[in-house]
Order: sequence, then C-alpha cells, then structure tokens
Amino acid sequence: MKKSILALSLLASFALAAEINIYSARHYDADTQLYKLFEAKTGIKVNATQAKGGELIKKLEVEGDSSVADLFITADAGNFYTAKKKGVLQSVKSQTLEKIVPAQYRDAEGYWFAISKRARIIAYDKRNFDPSIIKNYQDLTKPELKGKLLIRSATAGYNTSLLASIIESEGVDAASKWAKGTLANLARDPKGGDRDQAKAIFAGEGQVAVMNTYYIGLMLNSPKPEDVEVAKILGVIFPNQDNRGTHVNISGIALTKASKNKENAIKFMEFMVSPEAQKILAGINYEYPVNTAVEPSDTIKAFGKFKEDSTPLYKSVEKISEAVKIFDMAGWK
Ligand code: FE
Repeated sequence: MKKSILALSLLASFALAAEINIYSARHYDADTQLYKLFEAKTGIKVNATQAKGGELIKKLEVEGDSSVADLFITADAGNFYTAKKKGVLQSVKSQTLEKIVPAQYRDAEGYWFAISKRARIIAYDKRNFDPSIIKNYQDLTKPELKGKLLIRSATAGYNTSLLASIIESEGVDAASKWAKGTLANLARDPKGGDRDQAKAIFAGEGQVAVMNTYYIGLMLNSPKPEDVEVAKILGVIFPNQDNRGTHVNISGIALTKASKNKENAIKFMEFMVSPEAQKILAGINYEYPVNTAVEPSDTIKAFGKFKEDSTPLYKSVEKISEAVKIFDMAGWK
C-alpha cells in the first residue's frame, strides 16, 4: 500500500514538473544562457536536443505524433519552409509575437517566427581591394572579380536562401546569371563555413567573400587573437542599397505539430523575443535583434545602418526548390 502511494505521489510530481523540449540547430553560447534564464524566471525546465536543421526536420518527421519535441529552433528561413511543408509544425496565434516580430520575418500563417536577423553581406580585404566596384549582389559576377571571390557551398541554406531572394526580386534569369557568374569568379571550390572564407581572405587566397554579419561580429570579439586579426582586415559592403535592399536571413522558432506542452512552449517563444532575451542574442551572438526596442551590439552597429530587403522572407523562401535547381544547373557544389 505504502509503495503504491509513493508511486502515485511520484507520478504527480512528474506531472507537475513543467518542462519543454526543444530541438535546436543553433550552435551558440547565447542559447544555453537563454534556456537558463527562462528556467529561472518561470520554473519551466528546458530540455534541448541539438543537431543540424535538416536532421532535426527528419527526426520530427520520423517521430510523428510521438515526438517529445515542443519547439524547433534553427537558423535559415529555408529550414522553416521545409519543416512547414513536411507537416511537422503547427500554427501559433500570439499577439505578443505578432506585435514584436515584423510581418516580413514571420510566416504569414504563424508557422514560424524570427528571433534574430543576420544580413548576408559582401566582405572584402581592406588591405588591397577597392570596394567601389561592388554595389549589388550581381556585381559579384563582374569579370574584374575573376579568381578573387570566396563563398561557401551552394548546399548551405544561407546561399540557397540568398539565391531564392534574388529569384523573388529579380527573376529566374537574373538568378541563374548570378549563380553562373559567381561560380566563374571563385578563387577556389566552395568549402568550409563563412568564417573559413574570411580566413582565406586573410591568407590572400581571395579578396571578396559572401558572409553573414554575425560571423564577423563573433570573430572581432573572439577570445582567439588569430580570429580578431582576420576580422580586422575585413570591410563590409551592404549590397543593393539603391534598390531592393540587402538580403536578411533569420534564426527562428516554431511550435512542433507533436507538442504536448503547448502553452509553456508558446511562453518560451514569447520570451525569446522579449527585450531581455533579445539583448542576450544581440550581445553574445552579434545578431540583429528582431525586437526593434533593442539595439544591436556596438560591433554590429559599427558596420553602419543599411536598407533591408523589402521582399518578405516568407515569400522568397517559396523559391527555395527553384534556387537549388539553378545552383545545380550552374554546376555549383
Ligand atoms: Fe551560422
């Protein structure tokens, strides 16, 4: 008898212990700090599973309704487009999220919301490159840049989302011209992440690279002196300032279809866009806050103000499959 009472009270305490389970593809220190802060504020325990965005989408698909995941966090809007299409997300109605996250940076039906932004800029070697020849993404195809351009693989979501935005704003022909022209100008086969392109500029392998802003912020503030040295020689060009604006991608959050702790999960989503959380994202990871009440870090502010792509991100991601095809046809790896 005693035993069964003990079992019952144990069960009750499990049921009462509020928790949420997050599948996250983000790989940043800021996130661990945010989980802890949320736990301290709400008493809701955060369990996080980390893997790559694509792997987590597959995991959610395979697990179906039995998945423990409540939330899916990843970088790159393209991942959210895929996850929504695969049916592993559910729509969220939240006045807080709708008020804070600008419409262009969230799904029109509430399937995902941005928590931070990063601009896909053109970095150049300040020691020896004249930036005046680059005003737009299309200028990366100029013959003057032959053998000077560095960029990571086309399979990286950051590049497919950029190309999708070119399709959306300039059309298929312009996009395929861009894919072919940039490929023709590469200093080496695409490899490594964005930071590796910066290192290659420093080493003199090329002079111009396509990069996300926060990687430069991270390198400038890195505990490793060699990273700081690399980042210091980089100049930043915000492309397309006289027309559609610079392509901005996001990190975001979505409620999973299988969520069993929906209310607390939505609480966490709202927490992530609160000024307190946004300050941490902006301060530790050098991303642009999605909440306009919060300022970017000084490092990022020093890059200057810029015009963001006015095409809604939820629209341009619909061109992702087309972008993949165009990269393939151009011979990108
Ligand atoms: Fe990244």
